[in-house]
Amino acid sequence: MANPINVTLWHEYRHEKTHKEVSDLYPKGMHIALADGIRGNVDFAIRTATLDEPEHGLTDEVLASTDVLTWWGHMAHGDVRDDIAEKVAKRVWEGMGLIVLHSGHFSKPFKRLMGTDCSLRWREANDKERIWVVNPGHPIAQGLPDYFEIPQEEMYGEYFGIPQPDELVFVSWFTGGEVFRSGACWHRGMGKVFYFRPGHETYPTYHNPVVHQVLANSIRWAQPTKVSSFTRQVNKPTPPLEDLGTTQLTKDPSLHGQ
Ligand code: ZN
Repeated sequence: MANPINVTLWHEYRHEKTHKEVSDLYPKGMHIALADGIRGNVDFAIRTATLDEPEHGLTDEVLASTDVLTWWGHMAHGDVRDDIAEKVAKRVWEGMGLIVLHSGHFSKPFKRLMGTDCSLRWREANDKERIWVVNPGHPIAQGLPDYFEIPQEEMYGEYFGIPQPDELVFVSWFTGGEVFRSGACWHRGMGKVFYFRPGHETYPTYHNPVVHQVLANSIRWAQPTKVSSFTRQVNKPTPPLEDLGTTQLTKDPSLHGQ
């Protein structure tokens, strides 16, 4: 493909090394399950990066050449270097897309870009999740049914401490009756941010083909808009379109002038 979308799947990659139930589900890691799930999209050039690589795998070169970054983290948000989280936020302001998955709601880049505490209520108890499409015309909902279900998931419930989304695509319902804004979009600078809720590490959610489709749709939605000109410093004023004739104005004759 001539101009592929450069996707970097970032993953904390710690649970798989410390929890057997997670490595049983994801022997190569959750990031590889997601990469395998979207590999059929020929317009994507996919690579992965993980926390324990030098610079978390997010060198300046990698970030500069990433069109869309996805982020999954949970047990080690605090191990992410502040300067790298800041670089991720800066790249979003420049136009890079960011897709934040599941427990990434508490990650440094997401909280930095949202400006709120991003907290929520949760329960780990084999809930069923039904995800309703509440914005069927949105590009991220393309090809999806009215709703889809994930047989086993962690429950996330409202109130979710996020700023009002610019666009809401999904609302989840759980066995306990809780609801959650599980697919939400924001624009930050020239970049786009999408939060997608499913993906608890002890469930096989990232082997689900509908989840792969949502991820692929959201990558296409979040890809940067081509910006042909973006000049900060303007040395010369732009000439006015016409002489506005301000010299011909007379004194205001109305009562205001008295
Ligand atoms: Zn979880």
